[in-house]
Amino acid sequence: MSRPEPPAGAVRQGSLREWNLTLVLDRIAAADRPPSRAELAAETSLTRATVSAVVEDLVTGRLVTEAEPTPRTGAGRPARGLVLAPDGPAGLGLEVNVDYLAVCVVDLTGRIRHHTVHRADLRPVSPAEALGRLAGLAARARADAAGQGLTLAGAALAVPGLVDDAGRVRLAPNLGWRDVAVAALLAGHPPLTAHVEGVPPLVVDNEANLAALGELHSGPPGPASFLHISGEVGIGAGIVLDGALFRGARGWSGEIGHMSVRPDGPACRCGGRGCLETYTGQEAILAAAGLAGADLPADTATTRLAELAAAGEPAALRALQEAGTALGVAVAGVVNLLDLDTVVLGGGYAPLVPWLRPPVLAEISRRVLTAAWSPVTVRPAVLGAEAAAVGAAGSVVRRILARPAGWLARHG
Ligand SMILES: [Zn+2]
Repeated sequence: MSRPEPPAGAVRQGSLREWNLTLVLDRIAAADRPPSRAELAAETSLTRATVSAVVEDLVTGRLVTEAEPTPRTGAGRPARGLVLAPDGPAGLGLEVNVDYLAVCVVDLTGRIRHHTVHRADLRPVSPAEALGRLAGLAARARADAAGQGLTLAGAALAVPGLVDDAGRVRLAPNLGWRDVAVAALLAGHPPLTAHVEGVPPLVVDNEANLAALGELHSGPPGPASFLHISGEVGIGAGIVLDGALFRGARGWSGEIGHMSVRPDGPACRCGGRGCLETYTGQEAILAAAGLAGADLPADTATTRLAELAAAGEPAALRALQEAGTALGVAVAGVVNLLDLDTVVLGGGYAPLVPWLRPPVLAEISRRVLTAAWSPVTVRPAVLGAEAAAVGAAGSVVRRILARPAGWLARHG
């Protein structure tokens, strides 16, 4: 395995140490099975003594721990491999959506250690009130994490809207938020996380982007390029190309919910007409299936819709067929443009995939030029409705792993 070049300026002692820490930690995180110190030395071309010193720093700082020894056949001591520590720093993931708040904690190994979803219609609630409730849930998560020996090293917040570089929500149409300084509003509450150099205390991002990142880093390695669609009251897409999120020139890519699938269709909240959201948003599907007045929380109503469809109830089947057809028209446009072979349906769509997939595939085969010889896979997300909060927490964990020296400066 080739060793990557150190960054410019790595000749200085401090940066060389930082570089070695990152290099060794990266190899431990990426390994299929716990590597030994000798294997790490061979893989990184570092000396055994350097690897031992680096590993000691990582173990002292609770970033790495020794795995259970694997019994060796024959003579000699059993090999002690190294793994990421499950009880060191962790990421806090937060989500504000139209009808729920979610909070989760993910440890360095990617395991979810705390997860809370609070269902409430947040449209009549002010941003300050919604974020205050979220801060309360986050404080409970922090206490729970501390009880498990974890230190929250940073937070990321998912919102269903357009976020600018300063972390301000410029527009979240379904929440009715415009120019909301989220970080400033949360700053009025007790700090959620410890201070870690190189890890921002709070990053705000679009929920569909964070859900797509959650999908990218969950489960067994999947395709490097895919479209991840989160179907909530609004619909957002995260575009992953060659293993990285494609954000667009200003970070606002993926607004698939406002792609027009019928230019003369019904008016949308955004001011446009015939947007995908007006046909395939969660509330639009439930209304078409006759479940709009049922006064059920969206997740319960979606489960009910899936039950009705499974029982062959005609209105449910028709609503899902129509929703899937509109979704397929939009997806076919994206696939034609970006040449993607995988479409992942997440959020509230995940339980409806058995009924949404056939019409989506039908539109793809009708509209995508290459579909005849190069099929497109449409599948449910690995993560369920919690994808955005998990993706948010995971994004914090990856920041810690990318720059372990920042954590070790205070906690090593
Ligand atoms: Zn629209």
